[in-house]
Amino acid sequence: MDWETLEKQCADCTACPLHKTRTNCVFGVGNRNAELMLVGEAPGEQEDLSGTPFVGRAGQLLDKFLLAVGIPRENVYIANILKCRPPQNRDPQPDEEDACIGYLREQVRLIRPRVIVCLGRVSAMRLIKPDFRITKEHGEWFEKGSYLMTAVYHPAYLLRDPRKKEDMLTDMKRIREKLEEMREKEA
Ligand code: SF4
Repeated sequence: MDWETLEKQCADCTACPLHKTRTNCVFGVGNRNAELMLVGEAPGEQEDLSGTPFVGRAGQLLDKFLLAVGIPRENVYIANILKCRPPQNRDPQPDEEDACIGYLREQVRLIRPRVIVCLGRVSAMRLIKPDFRITKEHGEWFEKGSYLMTAVYHPAYLLRDPRKKEDMLTDMKRIREKLEEMREKEA
């Protein structure tokens, strides 16, 4: 499937009840040839209104971390597991994730990134392993098929607990180093 067809299917999707309350389907944004793909859990209010992922306060904080470690946001692709906002920003439900995950799979297949980074616990539990513990396992590397994956704290969590920002900076630096390492190996 090509990008245009996938995006259109997503915009018209009624596969789970979240389509009834969405303003916009939040498909994803960024470089479609990205080495690095960031995957959060679901759109929030600002994202639902704008149709773009990670544009609210959490998104601005994410931008700061990307900038701080020298990864331009234009070089990454950002998406969520759910493309429509759950009411009151509650956690995604398993049946909603099951209904929506196909869009993300296609996005990954089209981009073929070197590294996939889960933003937060919900994304890591879905994409890395069901018993993922974000406080213990953030920043660790996992191989899943042909992809290298890791998870970092969700930026919304860092807004609530700024003490974790140091860990986030360390993890983000390691991600940049890993990308450099992979490029050097190929050179
Ligand atoms: Fe479709 Fe996903 Fe939106 Fe549910 S959340 S309606 S599966 S696009």
